[in-house]
Amino acid sequence: MTSLDELPIRDDLRGKKPYGAPQDLVPVRLNVNENTHPIPEDVATDIVRSLARAVLGANRYPDREFTELRTALADYLGHGVTAENIWAANGSNEVLQHVLQAFGGPGRRVLGFPPTYSMHSIIAGGTGTTWVTGERGPDYVLTEADVVGAIRQTRPDVVFLCSPNNPTGTPLDIDVIAAAYDATDGIVLVDEAYAEFASGPSALTLLEGRPRLLVSRTMSKAFAFAGIRLGYLAADPAVIDALRLVRLPYHLSALTQAAAVAALAHADEMLAMVDEIIVQRDRMIEALPALGYEPLPSAANFVLFGGVADPHALFTKLYAEGVLIRDVGIPGHLRVTAGTEAETSIFLDTLARLSGR
Ligand code: PMP
Repeated sequence: MTSLDELPIRDDLRGKKPYGAPQDLVPVRLNVNENTHPIPEDVATDIVRSLARAVLGANRYPDREFTELRTALADYLGHGVTAENIWAANGSNEVLQHVLQAFGGPGRRVLGFPPTYSMHSIIAGGTGTTWVTGERGPDYVLTEADVVGAIRQTRPDVVFLCSPNNPTGTPLDIDVIAAAYDATDGIVLVDEAYAEFASGPSALTLLEGRPRLLVSRTMSKAFAFAGIRLGYLAADPAVIDALRLVRLPYHLSALTQAAAVAALAHADEMLAMVDEIIVQRDRMIEALPALGYEPLPSAANFVLFGGVADPHALFTKLYAEGVLIRDVGIPGHLRVTAGTEAETSIFLDTLARLSGR
């Protein structure tokens, strides 16, 4: 058997670990912040009709500019955003990769604020961009002083801000984003994968007059579309021109484009689940202290909770009971996704039993 080390792989990839959240088919899967509500049947029927039409034309390459999809995404976002401001790819992970291919790369630095989304540093690694970090304050909150101080210290080419932040759920004040923008000549990307679950204003409100500000979103979370793979961002049209330089031609398949356009036509129905998910998130935040745990405030569709004496042991016990959550490697903490009402009940009941409450 050949080992990875024996291959002539890039030196900077040696010893690195791939992204690897478990995908085990246990009954209650609350580990990767998916929307666990199925797509409504009438929307699914419409998507299938749209896919059928796309299949009939699949002998041709898809629209390389995905114009219809960009228009639908711009309409969905509002805030004066038009199709010229939109970029999309196979998940927002690929969008972030395009951003670092265009604005990062060897000899350049991207600044992030751990604990944050694990793919940010992995995509930095894959694109040869140096990952540098700044510190968060108490309860993982980021202040203007934290962000501006870290920018001055590390002089990054790209700043990644995650709002709400994964895995902590912490929202980010838009004044902090504006201050970060003013403190750097580089790109400031706000990863708003969970924006639809938050109540504060979006960084989209800051786009006007800020050509180096990029706001990324995804259809994987609020839209219950993780399996289709569609992420996007809004930015100045010049940024979109930069991203065109690094994308592979026809990177969004005709099927992906057709499915996403059809789903966006039903945005209201697709997003009806968001309110229900927020109810379950807040229910967990309310219930966890009585079980002896310390949940953090969350503006996303998941909750990070502390007070866990042995995270790995509790994770394993829950798993044995058919409940999969996430050990994100923060000492004393675990993260759980807000699922359906039934899934949340099973999680809380199982946790109560295992915790002797
Ligand atoms: N950003 C954040 C903060 C995330 O948590 C995730 C998914 N876990 C993503 C981006 C990527 O999602 P996708 O590629 O499915 O759009």
